[in-house]
Amino acid sequence: MSWRSSLEGVYALPSRVFFFDTTLRDGEQTPGVALRVEEKVMIAEALSDLGVDVIEAGFAVVSKGEYESVKRICGLGLSSKICSLSRCEKRDVDAAVDAGCDWVHVFIATSELHMKYKLNMTREQVVERAVEMVEYAKSRGVVVHFSAEDATRSDPEFLMEVYRRVRDAGADSLDIPDTVGVAVPHVMRSLASRAKRETGLPIAVHCHDDMGLATANTLAGVEGGAEIVHVTVNGIGERAGNTSLEEVAVALKFLYGVETGIRHENIARVSRLVARLTGIPVPKNKAVVGEHAFSHESGIHVHGVINNPATYEPIMPEQVGMSRRIVIGKHSGAHSINTILRQYGFVLEIGEVRAVLERVKNVADSGHKLSDQELLQIVEEVVGSRAVRPVALKGFQQITTEHVDRCVAEFEVNGETLRVEGVGDTPLKSAIDASMKAFTNILGDIKIVDYSLFASPYEDRHPYEAEVIVRVNGNTVVGRGIGKTSGHTILNAVSNAVNQYLLTQSRGVGR
Ligand code: MN
Repeated sequence: MSWRSSLEGVYALPSRVFFFDTTLRDGEQTPGVALRVEEKVMIAEALSDLGVDVIEAGFAVVSKGEYESVKRICGLGLSSKICSLSRCEKRDVDAAVDAGCDWVHVFIATSELHMKYKLNMTREQVVERAVEMVEYAKSRGVVVHFSAEDATRSDPEFLMEVYRRVRDAGADSLDIPDTVGVAVPHVMRSLASRAKRETGLPIAVHCHDDMGLATANTLAGVEGGAEIVHVTVNGIGERAGNTSLEEVAVALKFLYGVETGIRHENIARVSRLVARLTGIPVPKNKAVVGEHAFSHESGIHVHGVINNPATYEPIMPEQVGMSRRIVIGKHSGAHSINTILRQYGFVLEIGEVRAVLERVKNVADSGHKLSDQELLQIVEEVVGSRAVRPVALKGFQQITTEHVDRCVAEFEVNGETLRVEGVGDTPLKSAIDASMKAFTNILGDIKIVDYSLFASPYEDRHPYEAEVIVRVNGNTVVGRGIGKTSGHTILNAVSNAVNQYLLTQSRGVGR
């Protein structure tokens, strides 16, 4: 970033920032979210693959189920350290340690409001309890991470006193939680730098997004010298949520140039997994991982992006595991139409593209949002039977029994019929299996790298849309499909990716 040098000398940025992910603890406190143990295990594995340094796996003492899931995650042998939240109570610390945690996150509130109305304790009692529990946790041989809950509404002098006392009791790192999201960047920056100066310990910041400032406040904490950031995937969490992992990870790497352990290309995959398992969808306009984060409609923008993506994209979508999406509308130009049609397996002559474009603009001008289904209809009307693709899905049937789902699919491949049967534990998985069998047969090496499936709000007949990223013999292609069911949609998307690959190979049109 060209302005980066202007930060030097102003801030003493840490050389490396550590990610403390609390998706499974604070994130699970999102209203309406309750994850099963198997789902927590999947998320923990994905977070470890992503390169998160510490996973807060839960709050071990709260229930038997919670304890078991923390214990399961501790037993996975992940490269991330595993942590449990713990009040300043012996039984909380014991539950965390007994579950096998490497870290224990001990907390107590330090604001007048919380001490008076929640804890019913004096300042002296709070300090005493915090010191006693930090010493106890240390005696059990774990790394102790201490949080002063509601730090940003606490008397700063008292807050620093608490931090110094728990440091003397053996705490390994200190966290500054902005529990109800009321800090501003200047405040987080100065609290972080003051806590660091006064204690010499590594400092963490834990921010909430009540005012939409979680990411800004977290980054300000890093500017102040904090080297640990508390985050959740997709920014889920209580109320308006926590700081979003993906925003901070991207800002630290691409804006600040600070090192982290995050493997950025895994970000989109983890985001989709968490959205799917928690049932909390990612807003379309969400930074980094939203469906629109790398979408372009305007003709001028699309032309620029196709010539050189840097014109209208701050980073390349592939750098965070996303893909570029060209949306059809009244701002569309020939370039956009061509790009999207290739993803549906069509390669048209330039005259045909222009004819399609004219029809698209007419529809869009009447104030109607154009679905992909309608775009494909227009293509069919304009180019008719010449829009022959090498591979076409001719029919499919899905059979669900108690134990297994089967998908029988028929493809026409260069005029011949190919029939395959896929199996899986969901209709979608059986369709994926069927498509992989069919195209491994034809092409050899093929693999679905990632896929997303969404409901189209514009269509009754084909209510699903899918985008798949497929690797065929070392080439990455993006395929799109529409369909009546999830399985139908995936079958279409994969065969369109294959069409695009085949057409690209035979015509030499590189992506
Ligand atoms: Mn919180």
